[in-house]
Amino acid sequence: MEASEGKSKKQGASRLCCLCNQRRPVLKRPKTLQQICKECFYEVFEEEIHQVIVKNHLFKSGERVAIGASGGKDSTVLAYVLSELNRRHSYGLDLFLLSIDEGITGYRDDSLETVKRNELQYGLPLQILSYKDLYGWTMDDIVKMIGLKNNCTFCGVFRRQALDRGAALLKVDKLVTGHNADDIAETVLLNILRGDIARLSRCTSITTGEDGPIPRCKPFKYTYEKEIVIYPSLLNHFLKLDYFSTECIYSPNAYRGFAREFIKDLERLRPRAILDIIKSGEDFRIATTTKMPEQGTCERCGYISSQKWCKACVLLDGLNRGLPKMGIGRARGGVNGDHQKETKKPASAARSLESKQCGSLDF
Ligand code: SF4
Repeated sequence: MEASEGKSKKQGASRLCCLCNQRRPVLKRPKTLQQICKECFYEVFEEEIHQVIVKNHLFKSGERVAIGASGGKDSTVLAYVLSELNRRHSYGLDLFLLSIDEGITGYRDDSLETVKRNELQYGLPLQILSYKDLYGWTMDDIVKMIGLKNNCTFCGVFRRQALDRGAALLKVDKLVTGHNADDIAETVLLNILRGDIARLSRCTSITTGEDGPIPRCKPFKYTYEKEIVIYPSLLNHFLKLDYFSTECIYSPNAYRGFAREFIKDLERLRPRAILDIIKSGEDFRIATTTKMPEQGTCERCGYISSQKWCKACVLLDGLNRGLPKMGIGRARGGVNGDHQKETKKPASAARSLESKQCGSLDF
């Protein structure tokens, strides 16, 4: 009798949230597997992001900060949480939404409608820049010319520069992106698989580009993707976040897809695996004998580049000359004189180049 009473008391206790010990748990937290209530989930989710911001000195009071907004879940949750934290903790930031229109009919046009609604919902000014205006080409045009191979190389290179140009237009001090812990763990893995030491050494940095036109920060560096999905689903219906969840129609889903699946398998066995991979990336020491590319500026457009022309100018030149493979290492010659070397890269390296800069990463 006593034993069964004790057991039922224990069961009763285990039905309480393991953080507040007061309310009933409604979920098992993906990051820690703790059974917690809705209120505690919000609190730990937001507080962890706040601590990441504070400990890493991501912002200074009075700064203008652009949020790379694609209309997807990561950047939408980032815009919402950052606005909340800015208000709650008086960060003193001027926040903006910055979107890039790659010109992908049936995908980006729809997701941009979501960002336009976010502009009104959060009261954040929105700036949209299009590939068509910046480069004279949409991704639809590019895919028509080059097909569905290497399209993400063009898209990723153009987006990177477009975001910098948008940030300059908005005169912001920083750009924040919605890259989450899963994205970063995948990138560590991909850079190891590619033997890309230069990228490996910087892909776990919470702030990058401090020597470039605009520093970029990742406040979600330690935030699990599964928790970013849970967060809006638990908000009450008055606060439901409005985001777009369709994949890009040109997504190759190849190399990064394998890394993504591998990380998800590891996470199922051991949730900490994601944080441990990030930690491994952070702890990598680059041998001093490893030659790192030297940064200069593109002779054509003035953008940062370790070559005579930046990658965007090389790709654009190839497109405009009807030789799109010029810039992706499939043809010999070219202004930077490095294409011959690139054609000798193993097929796996070429594949990884195709898929690693996917826009579905929310920039
Ligand atoms: Fe661009 Fe991403 Fe679509 Fe590739 S999958 S074309 S990088 S938005």
